[in-house]
Amino acid sequence: MKKGANICYYGNGRSHWIRREWKPQCSEKVFFYGRCQGVKGHQGVHWCYSPSGSFQWSDNDDDPKHDGAAGSTPPGHKSYVAPVKMDKHYYLSHFTDTEVTDKGILAMLEKDKTPERDAGINRPVTDKRIIAAMKARMGKAHRRRA
Ligand SMILES: [Zn+2]
Repeated sequence: MKKGANICYYGNGRSHWIRREWKPQCSEKVFFYGRCQGVKGHQGVHWCYSPSGSFQWSDNDDDPKHDGAAGSTPPGHKSYVAPVKMDKHYYLSHFTDTEVTDKGILAMLEKDKTPERDAGINRPVTDKRIIAAMKARMGKAHRRRA
């Protein structure tokens, strides 16, 4: 089976399925923090946001425009880069949706199985008991706020 950690199938509960495939994430480590949030093979610096909200970046050898450095820029600094600006480079913003038409794959999905190992499945909740429990919980939340 192929790997499919970047794939998820979305069902509408009536045998209609969409396959969503995200671009792979850049595997570089950024500064002291986690993995780069960019799409694999991207240009510009490797980047991610720390838990404090600071913009973390480090040099990208694949892009000669930037030269050997790494850093951390806190929110409010004049060279801070906001998450909204980086959204177009964020790997989870890059995906392709295709409708599933293959009858064999549709049959697999209805049985909660996927053609790729590690692929996700997402379908609407149709079990009446679960829906009743969710409604009850939401009702309580509304009463607490009032
Ligand atoms: Zn990167």
